[in-house]
Amino acid sequence: ALFSFGEISLLQPLWDNLRLNYRDYLRSPLFPVVLTVSSYFIICLPFLVCDIMGDRWAWVQQFKLQPSRRPTASTLLHCVGVTLHNHLLLVLPASVAQWAWRPPVELPDQAPSLFGLIAGVLGNLLLFDLQYFIWHLLHHRIRWLYVTFHAIHHKYSSPFALATQCLGGWELVTVGFWTTLNPVVLRCHLLTTWVFMVVHVYVSVEDHCGYDFPWSSSRLIPFGIYGGPSKHDVHHQKPNTNFAPHFTHWDKIFGTHSDFSFSTAKAVS
Ligand SMILES: [Zn+2]
Ligand SMILES: [Zn+2]
Repeated sequence: ALFSFGEISLLQPLWDNLRLNYRDYLRSPLFPVVLTVSSYFIICLPFLVCDIMGDRWAWVQQFKLQPSRRPTASTLLHCVGVTLHNHLLLVLPASVAQWAWRPPVELPDQAPSLFGLIAGVLGNLLLFDLQYFIWHLLHHRIRWLYVTFHAIHHKYSSPFALATQCLGGWELVTVGFWTTLNPVVLRCHLLTTWVFMVVHVYVSVEDHCGYDFPWSSSRLIPFGIYGGPSKHDVHHQKPNTNFAPHFTHWDKIFGTHSDFSFSTAKAVS
């Protein structure tokens, strides 16, 4: 008991506030779905505004990875259509099933430690990175898998935020399955799980946003260990490279890493 003060997490006041004031919302099996879907659209919004403003915001356009290419109204509408279609046919039924059959979760009294939260988010990103790397490599190397499930995501060789969820149903189900199951396998605290889910939505949208801002994750994380928007943009230009969604180590190990970009190639010549 003498040292018990040291065991109180820095996150305890935040956690107490959440579980005392928003208990019923947080316990609902629907909460993770509402959290990820709403954070997706909120995170997409500023990038969408940058695309719409275009050359009127020249200071933003200097960070565009493929400056000559911008989504049109019809490409944006196509992605919104695919996203709505997936959400009505897959996400909504899955949510209703969860809501009907899963009991409300119990909120623990104790918050995770700050270190535990960061380690949990990092562990989840690393695990997902490996799973998706394997899935992604197979869906490019096996023609039938590519055509049937992944080709839709490669409709656009110049990605933009809303292209993130321009996915086939099978890909969305696989990604949703891992992001739901992994935090349970890694025995993460609920708060850690939710933070991971929002961070994962953010880095996935950033991967597709089409801009390499000074604050992009690949620039904030040193030594090139994180791929971020510039590397995933290259995957959409040269689809047999950069299969990992987040970190660069798997592509470096398997020899599929590439820094090439058509836009920089043009700038050099
Ligand atoms: Zn992509
Ligand atoms: Zn791909």
